[in-house]
Amino acid sequence: EPHVTFDNVTFEYEDGRTILNGLSFEVPAGSSLAIVGPSGAGKSTIGRLLFRFYDPQGGRILIDGQDIASVQQDSVRAAIGIVPQDSVLFNDTLRYNIAYGAENAGEEQVTQGAKDAALMPLIERLPDGFDTTVGERGLKLSGGEKQRVAIARTLVKNPPILLLDEATSALDTRTEREILGTLKRLEEGRTTIAIAHRLSTVADADRILVLDSGELAESGTHGELLSQN
Ligand code: ADP
Ligand code: ADP
Repeated sequence: EPHVTFDNVTFEYEDGRTILNGLSFEVPAGSSLAIVGPSGAGKSTIGRLLFRFYDPQGGRILIDGQDIASVQQDSVRAAIGIVPQDSVLFNDTLRYNIAYGAENAGEEQVTQGAKDAALMPLIERLPDGFDTTVGERGLKLSGGEKQRVAIARTLVKNPPILLLDEATSALDTRTEREILGTLKRLEEGRTTIAIAHRLSTVADADRILVLDSGELAESGTHGELLSQN
């Protein structure tokens, strides 16, 4: 059974313009799906529906076979970790910023071991001398460092589903490449949905959907998509 299913989903915002038009796709458990397409295609809207910021007017969205419209919003959200493009950090210590993710998840779910395992690869790439316990504050970080902290904050709750919404798009190419490498390790064992505007950043995804005006234009592996065009 697929972990995440969009089944003939239609959606419009309050202005009544159709944004998603009968969209269907499945994401097998533990696999990665990338969604690419031009700006305005509806990519971020897919994430907002999965996180239940909005509910679709038609069709169904399933997690583990269960229609998320019939599940408590909180329990849907507990299963999903989001990394947005521009993460907002608190002007507080990095430890506070990262622990905030764990507190949101309910501290009892997060063992110290799981926390450290998720955090180490992220923290060790922060600049030399950065102390996550005292002193250093979120607002002092560069874009790339901020994203590392944001990823750590998301992963401390150990979400089975990871939703990356242009998580590296604001970064320079080199920083982006480094963070994509880190993410690849951290995605292991999770079902990942990565929204991106460049095909090259999602070349490793198990499957890529090309979305255009709320409809599926193409899908396949990176190699398949390149050979079709
Ligand atoms: P993408 O992520 O592919 O750039 P989005 O999902 O953000 O696309 O947006 C799809 C379309 O929905 C765009 O035309 C956008 O202007 C419109 N849209 C996004 N949010 C809203 C909103 N809150 N109200 C009305 N229209 C919106
Ligand atoms: P780096 O030093 O890691 O290359 P920069 O801080 O130079 O990143 O980022 C370039 C631009 O992108 C800056 O204007 C920065 O504000 C913005 N930016 C990148 N990522 C983020 C982020 N996660 N949060 C806020 N702004 C970001």
